[in-house]
Amino acid sequence: MSKKVPSIAKFKYDGSITRALVVVAHPDDVDFGSAGTVATLTKHGVNVAYCIVTSGDAGGDDSTHTKEERSAIREAEQTAAAKEVGVTNLAFLRWPDGQVEPTLMLRKEITRAIRTQKPDLVITQSPERNWERIYASHPDHLAVGEATLRAVYPDARNPHAFPELVREGFKPHTVDEVWLGGVAPNMVVDITKTFDLKYAALRRHVSQVGSRKGLKKMLRSWSKETARRAGMKKGKLAEGFRVVATN
Ligand SMILES: [Zn+2]
Repeated sequence: MSKKVPSIAKFKYDGSITRALVVVAHPDDVDFGSAGTVATLTKHGVNVAYCIVTSGDAGGDDSTHTKEERSAIREAEQTAAAKEVGVTNLAFLRWPDGQVEPTLMLRKEITRAIRTQKPDLVITQSPERNWERIYASHPDHLAVGEATLRAVYPDARNPHAFPELVREGFKPHTVDEVWLGGVAPNMVVDITKTFDLKYAALRRHVSQVGSRKGLKKMLRSWSKETARRAGMKKGKLAEGFRVVATN
């Protein structure tokens, strides 16, 4: 585990990605996992949109807010966080937090999001459990990862899947590749220059991380470890993904 893995590729922007869609379960998931990558993409001029499946109404704070109030707060926090990394296009599907399953209805809603944004790249959570870190594999994360992969293939490209969407004007769209966060990366994105933006985005989730000390240190040490495992130079920071060709 402590050896470097030379087979991990380093992402280099070649202009082939112009539109990307991030699909995650909760407000703050994108910022913990891939906001440094999102900032890197938007700096290259990539149009990035977010599709957030729940509004985090069961999120871990001890406030006395109602579910509706908590959802509103967390949507506002995610919207502010997105702005830090150059994203202003957000859709909240408002599924109940903690109860997400990869159902046909969720596949349909993600299919609609894909056909709306028409991304070359979809970034989502791994449907595979991470046995090293229980928090990475919240059941909602596994469900969203699975539903998103099912939406990418076959639903979004298949005109006969959810024909009512076609009638509503959402034409079939084929996504070229998917990047899964969380498990067994085979590609890393150098986020050394966008790390501060990632941290700024994460700090916007005040209801979740407001009083947490050592957040930057923790984030930096994760990013350093990801870079080190990919054989990057000392001092480099990275986010890792499992790249899946889907075209
Ligand atoms: Zn989450």
